[in-house]
Amino acid sequence: VTTFKGKNVALFGLGGSGLSTARALMAGGAHVHAWDDGEAGRLKAVANGVPLDDLSQVDWSRISALALSPGVPLTHPEPHWTVKLAKAAGIEIIGDIELFCRERAAHTGGSPFIAITGTNGKSTTTALIAHILREAGRDVQLGGNIGVPILDLEPPSDERIHVIECSSFQIDLTPSLNPTIGILINLTPDHIDRHGTMENYAAIKERLVAGAEVALVGVDDPCTHAIGARLSAEPRDGQRVTPVSGARALEWGFYVENGDVHFREQGHAPEEAEQLASLKDARALRGAHNAQNAAFAAAAAWECGLEDEEIAAGVASYPGLPHRMEEVGRIERALFVNDSKATNADAAEKALASFTDIYWIIGGKAKEGGVEPLRPYFPRIRKAYLIGHASDDFARTLEGALPYERCETLDVATTKAAFDALDGDAQEPIVLLSPACASYDQFANFEARGDAFRGLVHGLPAVIAARR
Ligand code: ADP
Repeated sequence: VTTFKGKNVALFGLGGSGLSTARALMAGGAHVHAWDDGEAGRLKAVANGVPLDDLSQVDWSRISALALSPGVPLTHPEPHWTVKLAKAAGIEIIGDIELFCRERAAHTGGSPFIAITGTNGKSTTTALIAHILREAGRDVQLGGNIGVPILDLEPPSDERIHVIECSSFQIDLTPSLNPTIGILINLTPDHIDRHGTMENYAAIKERLVAGAEVALVGVDDPCTHAIGARLSAEPRDGQRVTPVSGARALEWGFYVENGDVHFREQGHAPEEAEQLASLKDARALRGAHNAQNAAFAAAAAWECGLEDEEIAAGVASYPGLPHRMEEVGRIERALFVNDSKATNADAAEKALASFTDIYWIIGGKAKEGGVEPLRPYFPRIRKAYLIGHASDDFARTLEGALPYERCETLDVATTKAAFDALDGDAQEPIVLLSPACASYDQFANFEARGDAFRGLVHGLPAVIAARR
């Protein structure tokens, strides 16, 4: 990125996206002054040839901008010390997506850019859009908050479509966010600790669609509904605002009804609605929450000019993302599902709502509220298998309501659940890892936990053969 050619840029935060930003700035001729509070980050910078500079000591009057990693607090609980210094010096604070937007503005061709945000479903929607477009033969770059940092992707070009997941932290660092298509899926209280209030969190997310040429805005929760209404009332020049629902037929817009995604144009009769895709056979898009994600993905593909058949084909062949209701194996009648990404009760609820006859592996590092909110789903569960720190807490909730067993570790839980599932009388028992907990007590992260489960499932046939 050449925006800061010949200028001094302070850069704080040397994780994956920080290093990528530093490399991109340096390649574009900027003088980077990089720092991180942690030694690990600083060592990585040195190994990558990124020049370090203690930002508490530099002369900020010589600095043009502070490039910040999205994990670093701008306001809550209080501004990071680099943020305070940058503000005192009156310089702008930006992130990698802002640098991309400026690079894109300098490109004179089309350069379509789809930006996706929301409280839940960002990664699924982003991956699904990229999949549909790729299957239709488009040149797609997928990244941002999911996978590859945006500045490590191929640069903007006329035909290339950038499909970018944006967290609220990234939006906060992107003052000129102006996607071709902006997507706001849903908004529920989350990360409030980092943004202070729900109002502030919503205002940040709103900026992504407010700056878009085509704004696709959810109507299934009151918060996004209000945002959509506000934008429709006063659209910017040439802006189009279209409502999207995963839950009900709309008077106009994109929606899912009876398991099919439809588009109904403004002023058209219900029977004139186009069918864009069917979710009935899309195994990787089970559940009401995925209907919402699929409605947005089909909408984005439609806005990119894809034919209905291309959209339907892409939705049908979507393979799903690892660790999100991922089918990792089938042994006899039993299906094994890895939902390790469900690190809280809210996320686990989606999986419980999607299956019956569940042999449920739960536990890890407990979150506030435990599994109490999941009580309405207990009738779908045959038995629970408890692992990790949360076992005592969860046992208290399950006592008298559901058969459960303390297993301590994932391998014991997986084996016991598999045997019970195969010995039981259910037609299609589901062995489900949807732990409703963080993984840190026993695993490095939710990916490691899900990978371990997948490995255990692959080893099960041998264990079962040995027993019989
Ligand atoms: P994100 O990237 O926003 O964290 P993901 O697509 O990775 O979202 O999905 C993470 C989890 O969130 C899923 O396993 C599911 O439990 C839940 N989820 C996914 N999509 C939605 C949605 N549209 N509404 C509510 N919950 C969802």
